[in-house]
Amino acid sequence: MNHEPFLIVVSAPSGTGKTTVLRKFMEICDGLFYSVSATTRKMRPDEVNGRDYIFLDREVFEYWIKEGKLLEWAEVYGEYYGTPRDPVTENMELGRDVIMDLDVEGKRRLEAQFPDRLVSVFLYPPDRETLRKRLLSRGAEDEEKLKIRLSKAEEELRWAFEYEYWVVNEDIEKAALRLKSITEAERMKRKRARNIWLLDLIRDD
Ligand code: 5GP
Repeated sequence: MNHEPFLIVVSAPSGTGKTTVLRKFMEICDGLFYSVSATTRKMRPDEVNGRDYIFLDREVFEYWIKEGKLLEWAEVYGEYYGTPRDPVTENMELGRDVIMDLDVEGKRRLEAQFPDRLVSVFLYPPDRETLRKRLLSRGAEDEEKLKIRLSKAEEELRWAFEYEYWVVNEDIEKAALRLKSITEAERMKRKRARNIWLLDLIRDD
């Protein structure tokens, strides 16, 4: 690696297709480590422990908090979510950039800890109708529940103003490619340069 590793935080309102985009992105971009969060919420049928989340009891999660095992944590809808510290630091030491799926609170906390090493990306749906359809397809729910989910998602869309990059997800492949472009551009930033002969030449002058 010729750059100082960084953290890429991706946030998106529910119904954006974030998980699918991030999976595709991991397939097409090298040199990345996906940070698997820990949570106390129940595992969904399509989820795998250790791949989607590390599913923990509240007692264990609280022990992890006490022992400083989490880089950041938050309580979302009454459940704990947090980023395990060691995998992140170990992978950065190995020169990998770390990608994480966090809410806005998590992004803010990490930004405070790593101001120069955090790249924030906001993923959003192409239009309201798509958002509505995606929320609907997540579970055929009644009109009332859909309305609640829609207004929550619209609330989350307001987070966008705190993020450096905005990526629209009208198509999984395209959105994944856009994330790859961002990552590659960030790797070439002068401030992240490391172990490059050009640096020695400039220093020698
Ligand atoms: P879900 O339960 O739908 O998987 O996620 C709920 C919310 O928790 C999402 O907004 C997701 O981005 C956020 N989240 C997931 N992992 C973490 C984490 O490690 N830390 C924080 N702060 N938020 C997280």
